[in-house]
Amino acid sequence: MSAEFDKDFIPIWCEGCNKQGEVFLDDLEQPYFVICPKCGWETSSVWCPKCQIGGEFVASIEKRPMSWVCPECQTEYPLPALFYEQPVFLYLEDDLPDEVRARVRSPVNSRYSIGMKLISFTGFVGMMLTFISLFARKWEMAGLCFVLTLAILLAIGRWMRKYSNE
Ligand SMILES: [Zn+2]
Ligand SMILES: [Zn+2]
Repeated sequence: MSAEFDKDFIPIWCEGCNKQGEVFLDDLEQPYFVICPKCGWETSSVWCPKCQIGGEFVASIEKRPMSWVCPECQTEYPLPALFYEQPVFLYLEDDLPDEVRARVRSPVNSRYSIGMKLISFTGFVGMMLTFISLFARKWEMAGLCFVLTLAILLAIGRWMRKYSNE
């Protein structure tokens, strides 16, 4: 059981129980059929390699579709033949062992807080380098630092959005 909880996890809100749940997955980039064992609510966790985003994107899951469409790039992806036969279970946070609940709730572990730290660090270092280059009148260097900083910030922002469903 503890090995199960050592896996990567993503938060999924159970709409049946109206409570915060977590699913523990071997590979975040594989498609998963997710069931809440408490109330039977069903959802999915799928991944678009083009957009590098994941989420509950299988539409009308009660009708057992065999494909899904990425909301960003509109690519249609087939689901594996045994998709619905191999569900992963959602654990309500209230039902998790205390130490696991502490881990999934820990702000240190959340993608958002790691992303925010990376963004402030990169932003700070990038701007410092840009200003230093400006003061040294190294215009090309300043431009390069500025563009690189922006690119890294965008990449972090994208990474942070991977598992938000917005
Ligand atoms: Zn539920
Ligand atoms: Zn996509």
